[in-house]
Amino acid sequence: MKAVQMLIDGDWRSAESTYYVFNPANIDEVVAEVALGTRRDAQEAIEAAYRAFASWARTSPFERAELLKKAATIVMERIEEIARLLTLENGKPLKDSRKEIGFAARVLQYYAEEATRIFGEWVPTISPSIRSIVIRQPVGVAGLIVPWNFPVDLLAWKLGPALAAGCTVVIKPSSEAPVAATEFARAVNDAGFPPGVINVVPGRASEVGTELVENPKVAKLAFTGETETGKHILEKAARHLKRVSLELGGNAPAIVCDDAPLEVAIPGCVRRAFSHMGQICISINRVYVLEGVADAFIKGVLEATAKIKIGNGLNPETDLGPMFREELRQRTKEHIKDALEKGARLLYGGREPEGEEYKKGFFFTPTVLVDVDHRMRIMREETFGPVMPIMVVRSLEEAVSLANDTRYGLAAYVFTKDLSRAIDLTERLEAGGVAVNVNDVTELQAPFGGWKQSGIGRELSRHALDGYLEYKHIRIGLA
Ligand code: NAD
Repeated sequence: MKAVQMLIDGDWRSAESTYYVFNPANIDEVVAEVALGTRRDAQEAIEAAYRAFASWARTSPFERAELLKKAATIVMERIEEIARLLTLENGKPLKDSRKEIGFAARVLQYYAEEATRIFGEWVPTISPSIRSIVIRQPVGVAGLIVPWNFPVDLLAWKLGPALAAGCTVVIKPSSEAPVAATEFARAVNDAGFPPGVINVVPGRASEVGTELVENPKVAKLAFTGETETGKHILEKAARHLKRVSLELGGNAPAIVCDDAPLEVAIPGCVRRAFSHMGQICISINRVYVLEGVADAFIKGVLEATAKIKIGNGLNPETDLGPMFREELRQRTKEHIKDALEKGARLLYGGREPEGEEYKKGFFFTPTVLVDVDHRMRIMREETFGPVMPIMVVRSLEEAVSLANDTRYGLAAYVFTKDLSRAIDLTERLEAGGVAVNVNDVTELQAPFGGWKQSGIGRELSRHALDGYLEYKHIRIGLA
């Protein structure tokens, strides 16, 4: 069994008490014993980060870049170990865990490069005897609060730009999935960052999370999680006017046009609706298919869904592992029940898979529903489960208006062969990322984030650095 400790001021240490993390594929299996950090531990970590900031902020960006590059190399050396822990605590298939750790390493490498490109400006002035220089400096201590579904990637998306900018950090991994995230932070720290630059405090939201949000020495909060939690954090952080970036929930639509390349649209929608059991903020949650192509699309979706292999994530054959916790499986069932009561038809799944190997985990069969509409919770709320509700529509106008009929605006998907139509739809959909004929809006060098109640600020790309930097204007009189 793995032991997870806290990292405070360069020391790995135990907490006063611990708790256990279990494998969602087999709830009898303990994955790790984890230090239960307290508010006091979080305070110590913040103090350490605050002290370290003074010198870390003034290091050369080239020095920071070297450390980040080395960190990326160490992460890749440990990819198998971290990926295995991620699968054990989170349930996702090992191939997906490897992908997550590999991408996290690339993110560190990318921000190593970007660290050396944080440019300022020398601006023209009205008076000939004045010079104006604009520089960009790190904002201070950053509190990084991450969820359980991509605990390593979503940490890397924050840690990379924070360290590149010259911020010091206190990381609060998800209390439910802290193991791989902490091992990832250990790999990064082992590159040789000075004590206090990187601190990690696993623990409850009510203790560690609250301290990060309320302690005035934390200048910036980077949060990924549920929309309701994000709103709460924003309200609390407003008292100190902290800089806040929020990556929140989603309810992504996919529009399948009548000229869609079905050989792309069908596997694309199936993968993005069911991958990681639908527990992804950019999962396809609602499909609007034009009536001309609906029968062929639905038939293809059912065939592809029937081929998906459910099982323990450590099995190389597995496409889908268990859900993360029982409460999410229950919510998924409730959303399906609500839809069926309001007239939806179940074409596939809707229940636990049968067999001994599924008895001890939170497994669920990928589910396809038709005859759905917007009275149903499945079309309005974030289910965070493996369900693809398909609604047949008569026109693109109807599809766009239904797609935008949501408080969320994280991702949207379009499948069509017509370039003009694709451009028209991408411009009209209300989302931070729109994908055409591809099932992911994530790209290292492009901003990732939400419109509407899906968030504030952006991660990935050079734009993510903005969240960790302040402008400073230096005005010089020529004496
Ligand atoms: P969550 O909001 O329950 O928790 C996220 C993190 O915040 C955890 O570390 C948690 O301990 C902490 N937290 C909770 N309450 C807090 C408080 N009051 N103060 C400080 N910290 C607090 O979310 P979750 O269940 O871990 O993650 C699932 C959610 O995350 C989904 O809604 C999903 O859409 C969203 N998500 C969004 C993105 C994105 O990029 N937009 C990516 C992944 C997940």
